[in-house]
Amino acid sequence: MVIQWFPGHMAKATREVKEKLKLVDIVFELVDARCPLSSHNMYLDEVVKDKKKIIIFNKIDLCDRTETAKWKNYFEKKGYTVVYTDAKNSNNLNKVIDKAKEELAEKIARQVAKGIKPRAIRSMVIGVPNVGKSTFINKLIKKNVANTANKPGVTKKQQWLKLNKDIELLDTPGILMPKFDNQEIGKKLSLIGSIKDDITPLDDVSLYLIELLKQSYLENMNNLYKIDVTADGENVFIMEKIADKRFKKIGGDYDYDSTIKLLIQDFRTQKFGLITLDNYNDMINEEVSDEN
Ligand code: GDP
Repeated sequence: MVIQWFPGHMAKATREVKEKLKLVDIVFELVDARCPLSSHNMYLDEVVKDKKKIIIFNKIDLCDRTETAKWKNYFEKKGYTVVYTDAKNSNNLNKVIDKAKEELAEKIARQVAKGIKPRAIRSMVIGVPNVGKSTFINKLIKKNVANTANKPGVTKKQQWLKLNKDIELLDTPGILMPKFDNQEIGKKLSLIGSIKDDITPLDDVSLYLIELLKQSYLENMNNLYKIDVTADGENVFIMEKIADKRFKKIGGDYDYDSTIKLLIQDFRTQKFGLITLDNYNDMINEEVSDEN
């Protein structure tokens, strides 16, 4: 079974985002700091074209900083501005505003030189599901706008929220449907909750999680489950070790179903500690070998 998307939904969502994009000067693309490349929309540049973009590595509090820093460098080399945030705890949010102003400083200066009084910068948040878009918007607003109570009579369609005198933010994010041409990226998107569990083969996802942990965070997995597996152990064998520790056998067989759920749940509740799923060296080597 492979993870599949419904092209109809995808096309509609993309159309909606494209419409909204026409209104803005700058786009804040939120990605999950635990897999900045997998949760980044590869087609962003095509969709957004000439707008300024800032890539925000959100959930920075959950990632393995050393690995994620390599991705920051990777995106910066491609010309993006990258900002780390922890939206849940309102960390570093105003840095995004500062960077947006920096990005648009030249354009504003040109307008001023022509004698045009510049209007406020218009921005919007986009990203795949569950990267923290709503949290980001809400926290940014709380930090910057004293009173955001809805005024009676104002239709709650789309509103520009004034972050300060220079910058406005669209109050609803643009949801990008995850696009991937590679099942491994799909499995990571499933782990971070961007793809719904009911369309995902969770057995494959959990075996893939074991593979990733085995390669980069073996100690974390061994410590959590009090097992002693090595990096050359087969994934199914490791799953059986975990099953053996945690669940009673059913009819003489390991309780795979419970173990699959446990692994995914443990990842989503950070039981393995600070983890980055996108391994820089692995993915870049793949990119290079794809090009050859
Ligand atoms: P959206 O689908 O992109 O709008 O994502 P939400 O804003 O609904 O957030 C998804 C989940 O991620 C929620 O449980 C948030 O509390 C959580 N979340 C959002 N930002 C952060 C963050 O920076 N750090 C952590 N640890 N959790 C976050």
